[in-house]
Parts: sequence; C-alpha cells; structure tokens
Amino acid sequence: MLYNRKTLREITEIAYESEKQFYTAEATIKSIDTSDEWYYIGCGKCNKKLQKEGNHFYCPKCEKEPEKTCPRYKLKLEICDHTATTTCTMFETEAKKLIKQSARFLIDRDDCDIHEQAEKFQKICGQRLIFQFRLNDYNFKYGYQDYTVHRIFFMDSEEDSSVQHVNVEQN
Ligand SMILES: [Zn+2]
Repeated sequence: MLYNRKTLREITEIAYESEKQFYTAEATIKSIDTSDEWYYIGCGKCNKKLQKEGNHFYCPKCEKEPEKTCPRYKLKLEICDHTATTTCTMFETEAKKLIKQSARFLIDRDDCDIHEQAEKFQKICGQRLIFQFRLNDYNFKYGYQDYTVHRIFFMDSEEDSSVQHVNVEQN
C-alpha cells in the first residue's frame, strides 16, 4: 500500500518525464457523479465497452456481436486529501469491492430505475481508502486528471501493495 505513495497534489503535478505509471494515495471519496451513466454495457466475454448499432451490440475487441452482455461499473468519483481534490474513474472489479454488489445485480431487474439504484451506493461517500492509480498519456501529456483507479485498498487491509498487472480494465 506504500507503493509510490504521494499526496493528491503531488500526483496532479507528476510530469511526463516520469517513467513510473503507478501511484498510491490515501484519499476520501467526496462524491459520485451519477449525472452521467455510471455503468456501461460490456462484452460478456472480454468486458470491453460495446458499441450500439441499431438494435444490436458490437464488440470492437472480439469484432463481432457478443453472445452475452454484462453491465459494468464506470464510477466517476471526486476524491480529496488535505492537499487537493481530484477526480478518478473506478471500474467494475474495484467498485464491486466497495459497493459489495455487482453492477449487474443493480441493473438486471425489470423495475430498475438507474437513478434510484445510484442512490443506494451513495453510502460509499465519506469512505477513506488507499487508491492505486494507473496514469496514462492523458494524465502525463495533457495534464488531465480523472485518473484510472487500478486497485483500492481498505485502510485496515494488510494486503500486499505490490503492483499486479491483473484485472486491468480498459475502455
Ligand atoms: Zn468482446
């Protein structure tokens, strides 16, 4: 959990020359932006975001119409520490650890109201966590914030902090 530990301000100031991709910060979730969609429809096989073509879906990675689809979280969070406030995006694997329910569980109901469902996970606001970010070209080159959350660690977790290149989700 101490891997490349920084404050949020330090992360926002990381320059392009940096060769390190992963950074860790302790921060509090301030809010979740649910004005936009907080999930996407992913390919049941590869999890890639599907493109909608008329009444069909198309997976750009599998290059065909998927047999199965699966809703997956794409949560936009505002987070802060004592130095700065920034935004980040959290995908299914980590969001599920936090919300304790899959996006599918919340979405796959006949009477599903996505705004009502979004209310349910507002309870994660105020939680303090260790975030491990994976910075990309947008962050480095253009100075955009909105960091991708690679992993989260709970404050009382004894879990090892080494970088693991598994479950990396890309959109
Ligand atoms: Zn696919």
